[in-house]
Amino acid sequence: MKLYSTRNPKHVVDLETALFQSLPPDNGLYMPDHLPVWSPEQWQAIIPCSFQEIAFRMAKAFLQEDVEDAALRRMVEDAFAFPVPLVRLGEKRFVLELFHGPSLAFKDVGARFMSRLMAYFLEKHQREIHILVATSGDTGGAVALGFHRVPGIRVTILFPSGKVSALQEKQLTTLNENIHSLEIEGSFDDCQHLVKQAFLDPELNARYVLASANSINIARLIPQSFYYAHAWAQLRRMGITEPPVFSVPSGNFGNLTAGVFAQRMGLPVKAFVASTNVNDEVPQYLQTGVFQPRPSIPTLSNAMDVGNPSNFQRLSSLFNQDVQQMRKWIFGYAFNDQQTLAEIRRVAETEHYIVCPHTAVASLGLNAYFQDHPSASPGVFLSTAHPEKFANIYSEEIRALPYWPPLPTAVQQIMQQPSRAMRMKNDFETFKSYLLEDL
Ligand SMILES: *Cc1c(COP(=O)(O)O)cnc(C)c1O
Repeated sequence: MKLYSTRNPKHVVDLETALFQSLPPDNGLYMPDHLPVWSPEQWQAIIPCSFQEIAFRMAKAFLQEDVEDAALRRMVEDAFAFPVPLVRLGEKRFVLELFHGPSLAFKDVGARFMSRLMAYFLEKHQREIHILVATSGDTGGAVALGFHRVPGIRVTILFPSGKVSALQEKQLTTLNENIHSLEIEGSFDDCQHLVKQAFLDPELNARYVLASANSINIARLIPQSFYYAHAWAQLRRMGITEPPVFSVPSGNFGNLTAGVFAQRMGLPVKAFVASTNVNDEVPQYLQTGVFQPRPSIPTLSNAMDVGNPSNFQRLSSLFNQDVQQMRKWIFGYAFNDQQTLAEIRRVAETEHYIVCPHTAVASLGLNAYFQDHPSASPGVFLSTAHPEKFANIYSEEIRALPYWPPLPTAVQQIMQQPSRAMRMKNDFETFKSYLLEDL
């Protein structure tokens, strides 16, 4: 697969370069130079298949020039050893549960695939790398669990002290071995700044091969297209033939961009709903045609508190930077925290189902779309996290409901482990000497 930079289509690299570089030097984003297209027969053929089998076939369509079949199959089976069920809540309302991976959020899909793809190339060339990540919570957990014990990779995670949830902190600080976490006395922005300084530091770069695992890496994006196909296959198995509407709870818009990849491959899709909290730059763009990044506003669905969505460039390039074209496929809706809480309660009471705050925003978006565009299509909203990750926002009453989803035993075990984060002041020299001494 060849990839080009959204800033300069003439800047073309191979998959391995894009994987380890994450970002092109011109500050654009890497995009596949073409997307594979499947025939209707190829789509039909996946209807009876498991998630792992669908993932393998789609991964092969993207990566067959880069990874041989047997290795790709191993990678996919190891990365996606968890179910992605489609649950029916009403005649036309379905929820795709993306939270059954080890970190209980959909970011597992991208992080686990990327880590195994990196390990594949590292082993081939006998290389080792050091990954540095700043996290506000969800990304760090998915990266920690996704890279745990992956050969050739050492990970250092920086998180802001006191600003991640109890479960997130356990995921970040209990793994050890090749995963190291630093509790920084500062904000998420401070963590991110420390990581950026490290990437620019000549001494550190002379000593180590540093890499990032952030969400703009193309290897995190591609695997997210697989579960859209799996959702469609499950609908077909239920006898539903109309193409679905997908409502995607969005922050950096990686998830939605991956959905458009699947649709361009030929997956039957009626429309996408870009569902956001009050950080609504993309719904605003769809309305006005002007993209206006803003400082982010804190909300209950905090993994979507993004003021300048990093995948907007990619999304926009898929529609030739033309808002008219994007409007044919993507419909934007934004909701505040009060609406989010009311939707959590409504879904619990009327559908006997618990949604996390991000998923509640997607549910609202789907309902709003159908109100404005009545159609026979089924609606699928993506459930991006287990509610336990945001347990503090629910009333005792909702937490006690019998249909609160159970916690997997692996996660219960993590809660019992001692945390081993090292506390560090927000100071680059301290961080740098830690890296130089300890790695
Ligand atoms: C990251 C995240 C999102 C937003 O996904 P994007 O791909 O950044 O749009 C939504 N929900 C949860 C739970 C997340 O962790």
